[in-house]
Amino acid sequence: MRWYSNFCLQVSLLDARSLLPVTSGCSRLLHGYASVGDAPEAPQGLNLLTVRRRQFVEMVEQHDVIVVGAGFGGLYATYLLRNSGFDVIALERGSGVGGTWYWNRYPGARCDVESLQYSYSFDKELEQEWEWSQRYAAQPEILEYAEHVASRFDLEPNIRFDTNVEKLDFNEGNSTWTVATNDATYRASFVVAATGCLSTTNHPEFEGINDFQGAMYHTGKWPHEGVDFAGQRVAVIGTGSSAVQSIPVIAQQAAQLTVFQRTPNYSIPARNEPLEPQTQAHVKADYENLRRAARSEQSGILTTFPLNEDSAKEANETDFRSRMDERWDYGGFSFYRSYADIVVDPTSNERVAEYVRGRIADVVEDADLAALLSPSNTIACKRPCLDTDYYETFNHEHVELVDISVSGIDRLTEQGVSAGGSQYDFDAIVFATGFDAMTGALLGMNITGRDELSLDVAWEAGPRTYLGLSVPQFPNLFTVTGPGSPSVLTNMIVAIEQHVEWICACLCNMKSEGRQSIEATDAAADSWVDHVNTVADQTLYPSCSSWYLGSNIPGKTRVFMPLIGFPTYAEKCEEVAANGYSGFVMT
Ligand SMILES: Cc1cc2nc3c(=O)[nH]c(=O)nc-3n(C[C@H](O)[C@H](O)[C@H](O)COP(=O)(O)OP(=O)(O)OC[C@H]3O[C@@H](n4cnc5c(N)ncnc54)[C@H](O)[C@@H]3O)c2cc1C
Repeated sequence: MRWYSNFCLQVSLLDARSLLPVTSGCSRLLHGYASVGDAPEAPQGLNLLTVRRRQFVEMVEQHDVIVVGAGFGGLYATYLLRNSGFDVIALERGSGVGGTWYWNRYPGARCDVESLQYSYSFDKELEQEWEWSQRYAAQPEILEYAEHVASRFDLEPNIRFDTNVEKLDFNEGNSTWTVATNDATYRASFVVAATGCLSTTNHPEFEGINDFQGAMYHTGKWPHEGVDFAGQRVAVIGTGSSAVQSIPVIAQQAAQLTVFQRTPNYSIPARNEPLEPQTQAHVKADYENLRRAARSEQSGILTTFPLNEDSAKEANETDFRSRMDERWDYGGFSFYRSYADIVVDPTSNERVAEYVRGRIADVVEDADLAALLSPSNTIACKRPCLDTDYYETFNHEHVELVDISVSGIDRLTEQGVSAGGSQYDFDAIVFATGFDAMTGALLGMNITGRDELSLDVAWEAGPRTYLGLSVPQFPNLFTVTGPGSPSVLTNMIVAIEQHVEWICACLCNMKSEGRQSIEATDAAADSWVDHVNTVADQTLYPSCSSWYLGSNIPGKTRVFMPLIGFPTYAEKCEEVAANGYSGFVMT
């Protein structure tokens, strides 16, 4: 097995096109990645060409592992692989670390898993030294944490910023990957795609989008310098998680805020508050046990209230009301653990949904508006939203809700938005239209595996992975929190740590056994995809249009992408490794 650690001078195909007087002696160099050191000596008389050729040669770095992305997944992968003796670099299209928290700088952006849990557990000192200021940290603080991790573990020398991976090609002859980026080409024995589940923004193609004369923003690509909406007429298109977080904050600044709603979403109060030092100290004193307990939860999230095993539909009204009130007042995801059958039994689900609709009606003063904001679909089958004053915001006179559930948005115009035959004028439009979730960033890398199979062809019928970690015909490529793993249904840092540790252990095993290649078998992937679907079909998750199913992206195949249940999944991964990586072929 080649564990590359050296640079190698090679000719870049692109730059070599400018070498017009190419002779057959050079052509070998132009069509592949044979190193200049391998090239035959240039004959006398070709000195000029040799000099020119040298001007156009490019350094193609070779590494054991290339990690794509420098969010929480990429940072930990870089750290762990480097510490395990691999020559690793990370390629990141942004100019800094943090991933989600580097890009999503919209007003109100914050985590919805409590900060003390939404943090790495791999280093005990890091865990103890970092102080969170709030129950749910805001984006700047989470970004600062990611930057702190990068600098504490000296990761930046291993990261190339402003580097977008544009193409990944598997070289069957030597089981390596060629990684083409916007400014250089790399080669590696292994690629770890830590490209994020929610990193490819979804921009609906509204007619007339280029006509609008005001400013346009996407929550997932917010300007670093911030935006001042004071005195402006602002539109927010979308009512998902980012909209629910940003609308109350934008409303505080804007002169007029208009929200375009296609589907209302259920939102539970976050009840964010400053994190008291004693609360933090209490958790830190018992961090190891608490983290272990979290990993035994379906979502990898530990909540204050234990999961109740009883059924919502069977509870008497007094008990039901008092339990739901308690959870509502406490805030956060504990709400969804009030009864065991919320996501499996339609009657129980509807009872809890009706409770939330009642709460919306209590808060929103105008009954028609409350009805419009009240979802009728299954509760919790979309990524649940947590908010601070979301429903309350619609009581303000300068905040308007426009229902586009029936006719959608007609078009964007020079002045604003035309919808339902009416014209709305704006200074700025905010697209809170989410992401091409789970597959967008992977497909965006134009990956070609064995037999020239491209990933978009391989995934025509939906993502097909083994364990959400590996794809048949794409050897030596690992996907961190890939489709088919619990990923977005969990505290993602828990899922990231589990994946990165599994991948690193796998590579260490291969290294010690002198193996070059690992590939999931077709049979293993087929049965895994069946398993993911079977588990989902036992719940209500597939019952509504959600990005878990790809429903927000026109033309995307509708398949439930994440696997429900972290602990059994993690056990399965352990078992696969313990059985000599069953379901994989290693050579
Ligand atoms: C607003 C918001 C709030 C969230 N809140 C929570 C929460 O509370 N709890 C939770 O568990 N999860 C939350 N998430 C999910 C969040 O994405 C994960 O928690 C986590 O940050 C993912 O880390 P990651 O490294 O896997 O991916 P990301 O953070 O998305 O990082 C991936 C990186 O890969 C880079 N990249 C992608 N493609 C390429 C390419 N071709 N070339 C080069 N670089 C590339 C991207 O630029 C990005 O920096 C939230 C997501 C959003 C959008």
